[in-house]
Amino acid sequence: MAKQGVKRRSQRQVEDVNGSSRPVDQNVLQSLVTEMLLALGEKPGRNGLLKTPERVAKALGFMTQGYHRDIDQLLNGALFPIEYDEMVIVKDIDFFSLCEHHLLPFYGRVHVGYLPNKKVVGLSKIPRIVDTFARRLQVQERLTVQIAETLKSKLNAHGVGVVVEARHLCMMMRGVEKQNTLAVTSSMLGAFRSQPQTRLEFLKLIRRGSVGDSD
Ligand SMILES: [Zn+2]
Repeated sequence: MAKQGVKRRSQRQVEDVNGSSRPVDQNVLQSLVTEMLLALGEKPGRNGLLKTPERVAKALGFMTQGYHRDIDQLLNGALFPIEYDEMVIVKDIDFFSLCEHHLLPFYGRVHVGYLPNKKVVGLSKIPRIVDTFARRLQVQERLTVQIAETLKSKLNAHGVGVVVEARHLCMMMRGVEKQNTLAVTSSMLGAFRSQPQTRLEFLKLIRRGSVGDSD
């Protein structure tokens, strides 16, 4: 994959958005999808589209279920006291999200690293934290920061680094139609921000075998 397609987007300001306690209203969603089909010039009554409003409403509910997940509940019983103080890395976590500007998918991989401070989190919980924030309407920058800040605060870690590499269908299918552009965002907190050595070690460890080196 062409390296020149890589865009760095870590500088932009991110909006702070929390979860929602309001459940998805499937009925409203379904009738809106019917309206949308009409507005697009389609015939919602034709065979192929008969169940489309129901399917789309369900799919949207699934893809935004992260609004209704509670991080504390997710981490309950999964934090372990430990004397280990070397870097922990979980890389190549696949994710799928929806861009909040076009409601089109963006997807890719997340790499996470942290320096424990007397406790670690069960490794399987990290992809679930990623899913919790990815399954919402998002911008890549905010997704990156939310994962990093959640880990930093819940683990009280000495430092956290998060790198997200993603392809955006709103760029690939419309507008600039750039098929190979990979947007890269990062969030470095604590030691990952203040100590260049720590940051470099993290970046070196996630680099091998990541998206972009595979072909
Ligand atoms: Zn978009």
